[in-house]
Amino acid sequence: MKCDVLTIFPEIFTSYLNESIIKRARAKGLLDVAVHNIRDFSSDAHRTVDDSPFGGGAGMVFKPEPIFRAIDFLKEDGGPRKVVLLSPQGRPFDQSIAEDYSKEEKRFVFICGRYEGIDERVKTLVDEEISIGDYVLTGGELAALVVIDAVTRLIPGALGDERSVEDESFSWGLLDYPHYTRPREFRGLHVPRVLVSGDHREIERWRRKQALRKTMEVRPDLIARMKLSGEDMKILSEIEASSGEDP
Ligand code: SAM
Repeated sequence: MKCDVLTIFPEIFTSYLNESIIKRARAKGLLDVAVHNIRDFSSDAHRTVDDSPFGGGAGMVFKPEPIFRAIDFLKEDGGPRKVVLLSPQGRPFDQSIAEDYSKEEKRFVFICGRYEGIDERVKTLVDEEISIGDYVLTGGELAALVVIDAVTRLIPGALGDERSVEDESFSWGLLDYPHYTRPREFRGLHVPRVLVSGDHREIERWRRKQALRKTMEVRPDLIARMKLSGEDMKILSEIEASSGEDP
């Protein structure tokens, strides 16, 4: 994934982009992120990027000119770009958008809003508006990092073990199954016996059952959207029959 980020707080990105999987993906050339300060594209000595709203009302609005200039600058090399505005009014971000973005050939431009938002005319430059959830953040920086993080995990070679991506929540349309590590017993809490049985078929079935159970409990909407196999249907009826019992 190649991307440019437009923000008035570039330092927010420094720490997150220099840790863990994201840091390694950048070192391997799988992720290329350039962060640009929108104030560098303002035209006055005060580096102004905002102004009061026409029509009155609370707060300030991002002026159009610095953002238009920043995008003109980024497009100077003639390379194809996909311009994404982070916004609570955008398409809800999910794993399938992350998958599409991980295969995107174009270089992304992520615009991080602040204040009351951005002058509406900036949207003539935008290919897609993305929201990371039904709540309002102070700025688009966290949202841009969420998108960059979720997409990077899906780039082949970014994770140490590619099976991590295959097993994660949403990859099969379900939430993830529970995970355990050593010790086998801790303060009277035991690891489920099946996981230490060495029976890989049984382990796989147990994990599928737990994933189906968890998803049914907290995200029944995901189950409703899934194509269930015959085995899944069988597991779901077992879960229903045993409801109220321990897993
Ligand atoms: N007045 C705007 C509204 O009600 O839709 C909210 C502006 S918000 C305080 C400032 C900026 O934070 C937005 O321009 C956007 O870039 C970012 N932002 C806030 N919530 C977001 C969300 N849920 N997803 C993505 N970006 C968000």
